[in-house]
Parts: sequence; C-alpha cells; structure tokens
Amino acid sequence: MRTDKHIPFNWPNMTGKELHYIAEAHFNGRLAGDGPFTKRCHAWLEARTQCPKSLLTHSCTAALEMSALLLDIAPGDEVIMPSFTFVSTANAFVLRGAVPVFVDIRDDTLNLDERLIESAITARTKAIVVVHYAGVACEMDTIMAIAKRHGLKVVEDAAQGVMATYKGRALGTIGDLGTYSFHETKNVISGEGGALLVNDPKLVERAEIIREKGTDRSRFFRGQVDKYTWQEVGSSFLPGELVAAFLWAQFEEADSITQRRMASWETYHAMIEPFEAADRLRRPILADGCQHNGHLYYVLLSPQVDRHAVLEEFKRSEISSVFHYVPLHSSPAGLKYGRAHGNLNVTDAVSEHLIRLPLWVGLTEEMQQRVVNTLGKALALI
Ligand SMILES: *Cc1c(COP(=O)(O)O)cnc(C)c1O
Repeated sequence: MRTDKHIPFNWPNMTGKELHYIAEAHFNGRLAGDGPFTKRCHAWLEARTQCPKSLLTHSCTAALEMSALLLDIAPGDEVIMPSFTFVSTANAFVLRGAVPVFVDIRDDTLNLDERLIESAITARTKAIVVVHYAGVACEMDTIMAIAKRHGLKVVEDAAQGVMATYKGRALGTIGDLGTYSFHETKNVISGEGGALLVNDPKLVERAEIIREKGTDRSRFFRGQVDKYTWQEVGSSFLPGELVAAFLWAQFEEADSITQRRMASWETYHAMIEPFEAADRLRRPILADGCQHNGHLYYVLLSPQVDRHAVLEEFKRSEISSVFHYVPLHSSPAGLKYGRAHGNLNVTDAVSEHLIRLPLWVGLTEEMQQRVVNTLGKALALI
C-alpha cells in the first residue's frame, strides 16, 4: 500500500496510454505473439539500439535461457560470470548443465572485474556473461578483446541497462547476444517482460526458431515456407500482444522516463555528498564513456556503519530501502552448481555494505529529502 507517509522502494510508472493500446490489441483480434504491437516494439528496439535483430520475450530470464540454447551450451561447459548478480544470470546456463564460474567484481563500478577474467579461463570455458550493474557498463572493449583471443562468446545481461550506453553504443548490442528486462522493477516495464538482442546475424534464424517452440513458424508467417515444422530444441519464449501493447506505451515515453529517473539520481547524488565527505559511505562511481540510465541509486556504507541499524531506521520512518545481492557463490544452488574463481572479497564486502534507496518516476524532491534525512539520522550526522 502507498500511504501518504510510506515511501515505497519502487512504484511502477504508467504512462497513461497502456490501456488504450491494450484496447487496440483487443479490437485487432490478434492476441498471440508477433502481432502488430510486437512488430512495433521490435522496430523501436532495433532503431534505438542499432542491433540487427530484437525479439520480445517473457522476461530477461527467458532471453538468457534462449542465449544458452543459441550458444549450444552443453553439460560440463564453463561460463564466466559475476557472483554479484540476480539468480537468472546463472540459472539459464545451469539449466543446460553448465558450471557458472564466479569471478569477483571491481570495487568501483561493482561490475565483473575484467582483469580477473583471463585467469579463470579453462579448456571448458564457452562464454562470458557480463552484467551491467545499475545500468553502468562493464569494460566492454577489454572483455570483447579477451573473448576474441580465446574464442569465447559474450552475453550481456543488460536487464538493468535499457537506454544506457557504452562509448555511444547501447548496452546489450556489444556482445554476441544481449538481454533486457521489462519487469515491473526496471525502468521501462510491462509487468513481466524482456527482449533478446541478437547481434551476431548468423544467430538470427535460430533465435526465431528457438523462440517459437523450435519451429520455423516465423519463416512460415513471412511466406518463406508453405508449412512449419519442428526444426530443433526450443520453447515458448514470446509474449502475447497484450503485453506488447502495454510495452509500446512505455517505449513511447522511454526518453522521458529515463530523464526523470536521471534527475532523481542526480538529486540523491548531490544530497548525499556530505555523508561521503564525513566518511560514512561512498556514492556510486561512474566509469568514463558510460552513460547510465538512473536505474538505481545505491550507497556503500563504511565498514564501521551497522547496516542493520540503518535499515531499521528506514523501517521506522516508513521508507523501504533494500540491500543487494546475496552473492551467488555462497548461495545453496551456487555452491552446488557453480565454482568460485579465487577469492571473491569485493563481492562479499559489497553485498554486506550496500543499500539501495527508493527511486521511481514520481518520487518527489521532498520525499528524497526525507530519505536522505533518515539516512543522515541513522549515520548520526543529522
Ligand atoms: C531483473 C534482472 C534479471 C531478471 O529479469 P526478469 O525480466 O525478471 O527475468 C536478470 N538479471 C539482472 C541483472 C536483473 O537485474
């Protein structure tokens, strides 16, 4: 519930046109996937990101699962990835029998530490999965060069990276494959939803087949074959038109959504500066050449600060602030299916000291001031 006093961590932003477009899809009488709204969404994604082929999926998780199928990940293959990420990054590859090899993150951007990747490569390594945390890009030039040198594929988990760029290129368009999330907690939303960006043109046809239950139905719809048949292993990865209609309303406003989130992000960044100067926390560090998208605002509390007490203070003030992530390498499934490469000291430290502040379209400056005052009080600075 959103009461006058309560400040939620997230509040899904509706642009106002969602129901209008859903009604249009209803009148179109075309409710299955790949109808007119899905086509519009694909065209928009391809125009905005410059990727050769985009495909809407049920979620970023589904797009990651498609990636594992497309890269022919097989039992025993190793996939290098951060431990500081959401479970889907690993799950999608474990479903194919692969072993996630967890590599530590950089202590500035909290992204996969590219300097540690090469020592984690073995004869079994098939791919590197990078995660652009908070919509801030990984060191992609270095990572792509390593992949090329070792003949590895690169998947970008750009779940948080819609509308963000690295050296002018959209996140998700730099590796062989990229994945977006339109989950309600992300910037541009459709409740549940996602997209696969297919950057290697050689993978496009198979991506369409895998997404359509392993059939060449997409070719059939284009009139390229006169019947469609089972071609290879696949599943149902495409959303229906009602979801695409909702998403279209969001795509139309994607620039203003991003601008408004960026403004709230900048407001926090300025308000919290004195706490950093007082050595109680550090604010996000942005990398050169990376344009982020205001997806999330986190602070890393200094080691002497009791995070639990800070979160309790937020709770007392009816503000929802949450931490991130329980590292995968020490989770029950991570221990069972994965392997840690060397020590993951940065991952462990970050996961113990990070908190995320409420950030959503419609959050007012007054609310942000209340969040910051509460933080200041918890840090005994106000
Ligand atoms: C949100 C998120 C996902 C999962 O996205 P869904 O669309 O909910 O499947 C995967 N990876 C990262 C890094 C995320 O932040």
